[in-house]
Amino acid sequence: PEIYLNGRFLPPDEGKISVMDRGFLFGDGVYEVIPCYAGRLFRLEHHLQRLDNSLHGIRMPNPLDRAQWQAILERLIAQLPGADQSIYLQITRGSSGRREHAIPSGIEPTVFAMTQPAVYPDATTLATGIKAITLDDTRWKHCDIKAITLLANVLLRSEAKDRGAAEAILIRDGFAIEGAASNLFIVQAGQIITPPKSDHLLPGITRDLVLELAQQHQLPCRESPISRQMLDRADEVWVTSSSKEVTAVVELDGHPVGNGRPGPIYGRMARFYSDYKALLQTG
Ligand code: PMP
Repeated sequence: PEIYLNGRFLPPDEGKISVMDRGFLFGDGVYEVIPCYAGRLFRLEHHLQRLDNSLHGIRMPNPLDRAQWQAILERLIAQLPGADQSIYLQITRGSSGRREHAIPSGIEPTVFAMTQPAVYPDATTLATGIKAITLDDTRWKHCDIKAITLLANVLLRSEAKDRGAAEAILIRDGFAIEGAASNLFIVQAGQIITPPKSDHLLPGITRDLVLELAQQHQLPCRESPISRQMLDRADEVWVTSSSKEVTAVVELDGHPVGNGRPGPIYGRMARFYSDYKALLQTG
């Protein structure tokens, strides 16, 4: 499918940007990933709001308004009618023609968006769960900004992969914060717990939806810091993201979580989540 770049729709190979773009030189930019189920954008408003927040965090205005974004994304996804897809969009600060750290004035941002066919967690992953390991959180202090600068996340996820795990759960100052590319939930004595929003973690769209669903279905839940010990003793551990949806962690650092299978509260939440998706399809 064609991509969107700076006002035009093009075949991917024809999308070219300058080597002087600050995204390329400094990782100076932000991004979003938006799921699209059967041709429908999922929680678009929430993603565009987070994009605004990320842009604000890096001192950039949004180059496009909501209606313009929606029109671009709708045109991209219309290329794969009715398919499950994943939209990727990124805005970098553009180029002043010089390499200089401080933000230059009066430059045009580079605006890019594309869609790819996506497979949302396959039935096996949902039924069996994944393995995760804990790693020291080596990221910076603005993890609430969805910055394209993902080198720490790349290294952390690769270490997890090398050790046979699908995700790394990051520990900062004795507390479990989130995954390298997902948010974290535990279940303790029947209560669902996730860390409160802060600049240590990305405010996940899926995280918020899981909290909403828990409230709607009267599952006890609270936002609270999760100590290393709480993580190790949890009855259930889940990670959430747009691409993983809600996935159970069944093995952590080589030890089974609970009885080593996705737990009962997980089972209920996974059902609520898929019902919510189905509702969106028909609604
Ligand atoms: N935390 C991090 C560090 C992430 O990269 C992601 C996914 N991009 C998430 C959490 C989950 O966010 P969302 O539910 O919006 O996909």
